[in-house]
Amino acid sequence: MSDTTTIEWTEATWNPVTGCTKVSPGCDHCYAETFAERWRGTPGHHFENGFDIQLRPERLLVPLRWKKPRRIFVNSMSDLFHDKVPDEHIARVFAVMALTPQHTYQVLTKRHGRMRALLSSFAFRQACEEAASAIVSDDATPVPQYRRDAYMRQWWSHFAKPLPNVWLGVSVEDQKRADIRIPALLDTPAAVRFLSCEPLLGPVDLFGLIVPGRGRPKLTYWLDGRPGWGAPHTTSTGLQMQSMETGPRIDWVIAGGESGRGARPAHPDWFRTLRDQCAHSNVPYFFKQWGEWAPTGALVIRNRPVPGSELVGDPVDNRGHRIEMRRIGKKAAGRALDGRHHDAFPATIPR
Ligand code: SF4
Repeated sequence: MSDTTTIEWTEATWNPVTGCTKVSPGCDHCYAETFAERWRGTPGHHFENGFDIQLRPERLLVPLRWKKPRRIFVNSMSDLFHDKVPDEHIARVFAVMALTPQHTYQVLTKRHGRMRALLSSFAFRQACEEAASAIVSDDATPVPQYRRDAYMRQWWSHFAKPLPNVWLGVSVEDQKRADIRIPALLDTPAAVRFLSCEPLLGPVDLFGLIVPGRGRPKLTYWLDGRPGWGAPHTTSTGLQMQSMETGPRIDWVIAGGESGRGARPAHPDWFRTLRDQCAHSNVPYFFKQWGEWAPTGALVIRNRPVPGSELVGDPVDNRGHRIEMRRIGKKAAGRALDGRHHDAFPATIPR
């Protein structure tokens, strides 16, 4: 947990849980695991138990002490919805987020199923209310008096709707994970929904995709929201009206390449396609980094790979030229895509 962070799309990290287990190819070179495992067996170190799941109740109330509003990445060293994290602990995390509306929280998961089940559950929302009441009623907790008063005035309604200061996101490293996780995210009550396409391991189509599968192909509306009829209403002149509305959509897309040992190169067009799809639907796009590998700008025909460089994607012409990527390190690779930075954030007012 840190008051500051080098992660470009956030301002602070908060880890009321640490440790995790791998679920999909995006986890292969998990930076959190590499970092935590380095300290396994070091007596007294925060990560003495490496990357094993550990609840950190002593960290739960930390955001209550941060007066200055900030964007906070929740569990940069874990996955909040891991099945070894009890519901009650997750409820306490949500209680703290409800009691600190000055902050914006970014909760990112690869456990979309549990996130949807919990946040759609009345029992879980009740557990959040109870956890928040317990914090407010305990004089030893660092909740300012005005916040206690405000909470007590409307204690019954904090979790009736999604918390406006909590953004929920899923990781999407390829199309397979997009097809599984995005529909679950759209089905989860949330004020703001986002995708982290990092490390991007393949092309991802978010817009008007026809999903192949066992059932009938279908169109997706992930960036635009599925069109449908809104609730009927009567105008002031007595007319019965029913307007067209769109369903939930993705509000923000982050993308980036992989860094660290064993990092895999990403084709530049994968980032460009995401950027262009977002631009088409007016969805903010944040290009976080190239990662270890950057395009050299060269098109190359080569039979044998040169150490430190790789050719990616299909040939771009009938002579067999392909795009060359070189491993130059995260810092040198930078984060400019086609000569400019893409640093857009979602509007914080829920749609
Ligand atoms: S879900 Fe996230 S924290 Fe957990 S192993 Fe995968 S990359 Fe690491």
